[in-house]
Amino acid sequence: HADMAMYAAKEQGRNNLCFYRKRMTRQAAQRRDMETRLRQALDQGEFALVYQPQIDDRNGRIRGVEALLRWHHPRRGLVYPAEFIPIAEETGLIRTLGEWVLRESCRQLRTWRHAQLPNLRMAVNISGQQFKQPDFLTVVDRALREADFDPARLELEMELTETVLLHNVETTLRNLRGLKERGISLAIDDFGTGYSSLSYLKDFPIDRIKIDRSFVGEISHGGNAAAIVGTIIAMARSLGLAVIAEGVETAQQVEFLRQRDCFDMQGYYFARPMPAAVLERYLQNIQTGKNRRSPGLITCR
Ligand code: C2E
Ligand code: MG
Ligand code: MG
Ligand code: MG
Repeated sequence: HADMAMYAAKEQGRNNLCFYRKRMTRQAAQRRDMETRLRQALDQGEFALVYQPQIDDRNGRIRGVEALLRWHHPRRGLVYPAEFIPIAEETGLIRTLGEWVLRESCRQLRTWRHAQLPNLRMAVNISGQQFKQPDFLTVVDRALREADFDPARLELEMELTETVLLHNVETTLRNLRGLKERGISLAIDDFGTGYSSLSYLKDFPIDRIKIDRSFVGEISHGGNAAAIVGTIIAMARSLGLAVIAEGVETAQQVEFLRQRDCFDMQGYYFARPMPAAVLERYLQNIQTGKNRRSPGLITCR
């Protein structure tokens, strides 16, 4: 019986292995296809940025926007970053794609400045793969070359991952210091999740913490999320850091944050990410006193 069981297990193991091999090969092939497609997409101008307002809830003003990447696939239509950013990171293509994002967002900020729109801050997501590149500062300098705005208007949202922090702390730190020397603002994105540990607050020259939306979304659920959000806000304050809540969707969440003196908010409650032209109209309406109550007004993605 024991023999039989072992034999069966081995057979099964072999089948599984075979199955895994096939699946891995298929996945690898799909990934290669995707990489090729992403490269083409970049050449053919299929990427675009949308901008989500970051609100100062004390006066309802838009203080800044976060640039978010979209892929307009000729057949599939709109593709969201969750589908392609991980592959771009694995294949290293994020460097080229990330450089495009930086240049495009800086170009856009410059255009808005010239259009006499309110002085906005531009928050750009930078993956750990980009921060750990020895030439990252050169890439930033190229993007800033024609920028006639105060570099502090540019805020880089750091997405910290294990590989970066375990193996490239030196280069990452050097890059972060270089960014600070240039006057650029730094935020830790998705704070509280993944690898965003407290030691980065100690070692890295950070300006702002961005509370992850998984906590904000559960503020009213009666679990630990409310206490965690409250603690992050209090910690930011005692460290002298700015703090913003992402993923704010309800009036209760807004009220909770207000009561704890966290007035910087971003989320569907205020506005969805939108193309530059839509944001411009939105800002112009605000200037002329229309749409005082922004919640729910903007629905395009
Ligand atoms: P993130 O940096 O945490 O960006 C916020 C995400 O939350 C965005 O998703 C945004 O559309 C979404 N969001 C905003 N408000 C709400 C809300 O009230 N409720 C909910 N449920 N979601 C909300 P998106 O645009 O799909 O981007 C997903 C992630 O992809 C980003 O998360 C970021 O990590 C990455 N990403 C996007 N653009 C770029 C980029 O240019 N470069 C890099 N490296 N990563 C990017
Ligand atoms: Mg992010
Ligand atoms: Mg972000
Ligand atoms: Mg997030």
